[in-house]
Amino acid sequence: MTSPNTQTSSGVKSKKSNLVEIQNYIGGRYVPAASAATFETINPATGEAHGRVAHGTAGDIDQAAQAAQKAYESGPWARMSYAERAKVVAAIGDLILKNREKLALAETTDTGKPISESFDGDILRSAQNFHFFSQFASTFAEETYSASENERHIAVREPVGVCGLITPWNLPLYLATWKIAPALMMGNSIVLKPAEWTPYTATLLGEITKEAGLPDGVYNVVNGFGANEAGEALTRHPLVRSISFTGETSTGKAIMGAAAGTLKKVSFELGGKGANIIFADADLSEAIPTAVRAAFRNQGQICLAGSRLFVERPIYDQVVEKMVALVKAIKVGDPTKSDTQMGALISAEHMEKVMSYLVIGKAEGRLECGGERLSDLGPGNFLSPAVFTGLGIKSRFLQEEIFGPALPIIPFDTEEEAIALANDSPYGLSASIWSSDINRIHRVSRGIKAGMIWVNTWFARDLRTPFGGQKSSGLGREGGRYSLEFFSEAKTISYKYKG
Ligand code: NAD
Repeated sequence: MTSPNTQTSSGVKSKKSNLVEIQNYIGGRYVPAASAATFETINPATGEAHGRVAHGTAGDIDQAAQAAQKAYESGPWARMSYAERAKVVAAIGDLILKNREKLALAETTDTGKPISESFDGDILRSAQNFHFFSQFASTFAEETYSASENERHIAVREPVGVCGLITPWNLPLYLATWKIAPALMMGNSIVLKPAEWTPYTATLLGEITKEAGLPDGVYNVVNGFGANEAGEALTRHPLVRSISFTGETSTGKAIMGAAAGTLKKVSFELGGKGANIIFADADLSEAIPTAVRAAFRNQGQICLAGSRLFVERPIYDQVVEKMVALVKAIKVGDPTKSDTQMGALISAEHMEKVMSYLVIGKAEGRLECGGERLSDLGPGNFLSPAVFTGLGIKSRFLQEEIFGPALPIIPFDTEEEAIALANDSPYGLSASIWSSDINRIHRVSRGIKAGMIWVNTWFARDLRTPFGGQKSSGLGREGGRYSLEFFSEAKTISYKYKG
């Protein structure tokens, strides 16, 4: 991979203005938007533009979809064996690791997240997505049924064709590769529309895929915006046969409507408002620091965040006191420094939204700590992590996804009440339960309407397990064979033979 700061033919290069040029990647080449329009991408920690991005629109999506369709129909990729594809997919993972530092810096520049999270979290996990699916896909068994002695019915899996991927800004490369790797392993071609706030790493991935040996046109990136722009054009394009989307619930609804016109398959990973429940019999030495991480990692901008903390009454005061002490000690600052624990929020606009919830929290409850705009850190979007008590479950603070560093703590008296509080939400993505009573853990896990439950932990993942949400948190599942099923079509071939 070439350096983003030197003149290269890669399409990611510095200009006189010192802005990195982030183009589209179509048919194996970096290209400007057809209209030549660009927009600036801002470093959330400095408030300054760091890149000039191709402003792709419907015409660019069409170009990318045509390139992807051509690669799918005429190229070797869709017809390769799993083993042949696995070599290339694993090589992409290897090259991500080789370029880990550069990619981590690009991710931190785009998102404002601490470099340690980019390096040890996002970029490492992106490589793992490729390594995992390169291996796992070969275990994806086809089915055979035998209705009688001289009949066989075989369900084979074939590529979908051109897959549209639309991704958010909070874990840019991590979530994009979670879709790209299985889509590639199943022989598809891809058109990716990354979030407009974070186009950098998905674009850099273009040259990595090329170096790894992926045929031109199999991986395409169109940068640009969502509604009425490139994102929506992708959801309406007739050559695009499926949409895998991660983002806000309201966007998922809009995409579902738009995709209906061409009857695309859809898979949605949407918003969350995770319950984190601590019972009095929990190991608090684990539960409390994990609750802090669950609420504030990535500046609280994680769909799986434990963003509502419910604590059993006998330990409530003790937990609030310890949480506040730990939260006050979180080091907020320059995300490129290795000891920074919390960086900047993605945009000034998003910070305003988070601050509007802080106003609600202060009016309806009690601010225990934080909730300040940290202007002394410069013009970046820095907020001190906030803890609130005294809020009611029906408050907008608890019902809506804030997606920022603001945690409410609520006491409860009984197991039934804890389940009812956890379920009093339009979302159902994930929840954590902290207890040493296995029977209670079982009852509460079964009682909570969510796609993923953690017991005495948070964020633990095995990539073979289904990932996704219930209620307003999603539609369908990704992970392991669930991803491979989504990124393939089942075809039944029935044989009759003599013998
Ligand atoms: P968003 O919905 O605003 O944008 C996501 C992507 O959709 C972007 O690429 C955007 O350009 C595109 N888009 C927007 N409108 C579109 C439209 N009408 N048609 C097609 N594309 C469109 O979400 P965001 O603000 O980038 O991300 C934050 C949200 O993502 C939060 O709600 C968070 O919970 C959710 N999220 C969910 C998961 C999960 O796995 N469930 C993971 C991460 C983030």
